[in-house]
Amino acid sequence: MEARLRAAVRDVVDYPKPGILFKDITPLLASAELYRAACEALAAPYRESGVTHVVSIESRGFLLGGPVAISLGTGLVPIRKQGKLPHQTSREEYALEYGTDVLEIHTDALTSSCRVLIIDDVLATGGTACAAVRLAEGLGATIAGHAFLLELGFLGGRARLDPHRVESVIAYA
Ligand code: AMP
Repeated sequence: MEARLRAAVRDVVDYPKPGILFKDITPLLASAELYRAACEALAAPYRESGVTHVVSIESRGFLLGGPVAISLGTGLVPIRKQGKLPHQTSREEYALEYGTDVLEIHTDALTSSCRVLIIDDVLATGGTACAAVRLAEGLGATIAGHAFLLELGFLGGRARLDPHRVESVIAYA
């Protein structure tokens, strides 16, 4: 199944900027069988981890976080780009592979009794996921780990997430 999932990820050259090889997961999402398998593979390592909430990151993280939360029987907490969440937020600025951005979380979304699984589509440099850790930990939550559909191993993101557990369904060396 891993090979079929891998084959369903499309490489788009020079998007959104020259020099970026964009991993387009829309062909995978469009297959009922592969979409389900991908979400199950994201959830599987964390079934016995006491996760209370899936925290998913706008925007492609939302496409995976919802099904994973349903599968694990947890709540879902969105982390969104600046200005999108309607209630009181905390914010983190971060650098990503192509530019900088701000992520926000509702200040009442998590408490110290929460144990969270952070979900996103791609682990690249790890800047986005690090910002998500800071937002969740800033509200007192414990990090059970991260799950990514794709890991661009050559960018070293995994090391930046140390000491947290990192799982990826498809890794590119
Ligand atoms: P980073 O913060 O560098 O780990 O980047 C991760 C975020 O940027 C994820 O939310 C991805 O959706 C997006 N991203 C970074 N690089 C790529 C890529 N090569 N293809 C697709 N998405 C990417």
